[in-house]
Amino acid sequence: MRLVLFGPPGAGKGTQAQRIADAWRIPHISTGEMLREAVASGSELGRQVRELMERGQLVPDELIGEVVAARLAEDDAGGGFLLDGFPRTAHQIEILDRVLERLGAEIDRVILLNVPDEIVTERLAGRREVGDQGQQRADDNEETILERLRVYAEQTEPVADVYRKRGVLADVDGTGTVEQVFARIQGLLVEVAG
Ligand code: AMP
Repeated sequence: MRLVLFGPPGAGKGTQAQRIADAWRIPHISTGEMLREAVASGSELGRQVRELMERGQLVPDELIGEVVAARLAEDDAGGGFLLDGFPRTAHQIEILDRVLERLGAEIDRVILLNVPDEIVTERLAGRREVGDQGQQRADDNEETILERLRVYAEQTEPVADVYRKRGVLADVDGTGTVEQVFARIQGLLVEVAG
């Protein structure tokens, strides 16, 4: 199973991604997580991306493209994977297409978690206030949240249209409890697998 999960910041991607990865025994490849680890480790990559991430802006396509290409070439991704947070721009779709072609693989489904703006803003504010069991992040401040939402609408939403035209996009209602959303995703993945 080769999957891409995307949706606005605060849509619950991280939580759902982990569940999907566990259920289908595929690696959860989160570009945001990989970049946060790079920042925490103080690596060269981390130094290059830290400021952009803190501002809620995207890191350069080529840079993240290299990170993803290297990760997808690892053994554990050979039987499938779940990409979380990539591709996020039209150019990143092209980069992913090239990487997959080299690997002789194709994306089975792109899952779009649909959550209305008001709910996204509420969830992100909640995550910020209560620290949400360790889910709080350096980029969860009000200014950065607004910028991440703006960047999503401007650069990432068009990604959905490309996959919709290709016929691999699946819209999932991302409102409700974690269990409800996961059940919807499972329903469609069982169909894909069958
Ligand atoms: P996320 O955890 O997916 O919300 O990502 C956190 C931050 O990492 C984003 O706001 C970007 O600064 C950066 N990032 C993650 N994935 C990408 C990507 N595919 N392209 C560019 N920047 C990314």
